[in-house]
Amino acid sequence: MKEDTLFAEVCEHARGIAVLGSVEAVLGWDEQTMLPKRAAEHRGVQAAALASLLHHRWLDPGFGESLATLRESMQGNSHDPAVRCTIAKLWEDRERRLRMPPRLVEELASVGVAAQQAWVEARRCGDWSQLQPWLEKMFALKREQAACRAPELEPYDALLDEYEPGGRSAEIAERFARLREGIVPLVREVAAATTRPDMSVLEGSYPQAAQELFVRHVAEQIGFDFERGRLDTAAHPFCSSLGPSDCRITTRWDEKALVTSLYGVLHEAGHGLYEQGLPADWFGLPPGEAASLGIHESQSRLWENLVGRSSEFWQWCFPLAQKFFPTVFADVRTEQVHQAMLEVKPSMIRVEADEVTYNLHVMMRFDLERAVVSGDLTLAELPAAWNERFEHDFGLVPASDAEGVLQDIHWSAGLVGYFPTYTLGNIYAAELMAAAEHDLPNLRAGFAAGQFAELLHWLSERVHKHGRQQTSDALVEQAIGRPPAETALLESLRRRYGPAYGLS
Ligand code: ZN
Repeated sequence: MKEDTLFAEVCEHARGIAVLGSVEAVLGWDEQTMLPKRAAEHRGVQAAALASLLHHRWLDPGFGESLATLRESMQGNSHDPAVRCTIAKLWEDRERRLRMPPRLVEELASVGVAAQQAWVEARRCGDWSQLQPWLEKMFALKREQAACRAPELEPYDALLDEYEPGGRSAEIAERFARLREGIVPLVREVAAATTRPDMSVLEGSYPQAAQELFVRHVAEQIGFDFERGRLDTAAHPFCSSLGPSDCRITTRWDEKALVTSLYGVLHEAGHGLYEQGLPADWFGLPPGEAASLGIHESQSRLWENLVGRSSEFWQWCFPLAQKFFPTVFADVRTEQVHQAMLEVKPSMIRVEADEVTYNLHVMMRFDLERAVVSGDLTLAELPAAWNERFEHDFGLVPASDAEGVLQDIHWSAGLVGYFPTYTLGNIYAAELMAAAEHDLPNLRAGFAAGQFAELLHWLSERVHKHGRQQTSDALVEQAIGRPPAETALLESLRRRYGPAYGLS
């Protein structure tokens, strides 16, 4: 059979898999936004049926043979890079699935469900001993998964690679160590500062109906396309792509705090702009997919923090906020509100952390989970190790494990090797923003006038349209013209937060 015909067949099969995957995503979105309580059981049955169907499609022997033939015939010749990427990545994705014994897949799923239930209860009671036996099981399964998935890699790297293809923990550890050297003194200086933002300017009542209109307007203004997406409510906000022209973002509402919904939506819309910017022609194939979790997070963080906490953004956004919330903002100046968006306040809880201390939370989890995977730290020792490190980094001791080692769902859900992608995202975001500002001298002036299209276009050209054709580092290097480093993030934090705290 001719190569082109074979390639078309392979693409059609892979797109069929992606269509089923997008049906799975519809069920997942519905589960988190709409599902009645008593419908959960049947939803579980539906999800399992689809997962099994998907698995069989992936392992279809004919699909494997066609990929193998194409891989052979295309070696060394100069085809379109998107075509080469499609064959190489589909082959890799299928191989990884093949290497996982069905028993392991089932056990990971069932232990994951039980461990997450145990986690809810353990966190409620602040009782580590209820979760520890489940995490023992989960980490044992994850070590087994690592050995099957990529036996040539260190176990932690084999897990990390699933979220951050090409990411290696030794390199990330060095990067994070340099980042710590800059963040720890900044946090100390901020804590000792006598100048602080006046948080009272945000006090007041923000009716949910007004918030809904306001954040929708903001999301639209930065470029989120509501003809190809929706905004809904969820307890744990997320962004999910249900198809090439159907991106769902969610947020939650707090009538006492506008920042919850506003920054939640800027973050999720940042993810959404990436999904909406992926090449739709390549839907279901690697060139139409996101590069990594780190790159995804770079997009959300860029819009949330680097755009949404800038003084120019507030020059545009404040008059709008005044229209929606006239009583709260009657006697307040733009600059006061902008400063209040730069509050730095060490928190026990990662998801409530400010932009400056957030990375310390992530680095701590990265070090601890690596030690658990390698066997240097036992799960019995983990709570004490957590508290010791937390006190060292934040000067605070969690009152109970509920606000310490039990706060995140990740480990119970089997998401080991996932945490570092949050900070990688922040590093990439700072690099991309610095390069965009360099390339587009009027960018910030545009923000003040509510113009964000120039930035979105730049991101689309440099990041979105390349899909999964490169590793994260290579993609960012290509976008900014040199290898990404953590210094851009440190400079950005100091430049933006220093003035709010009177630091020189
Ligand atoms: Zn995110």
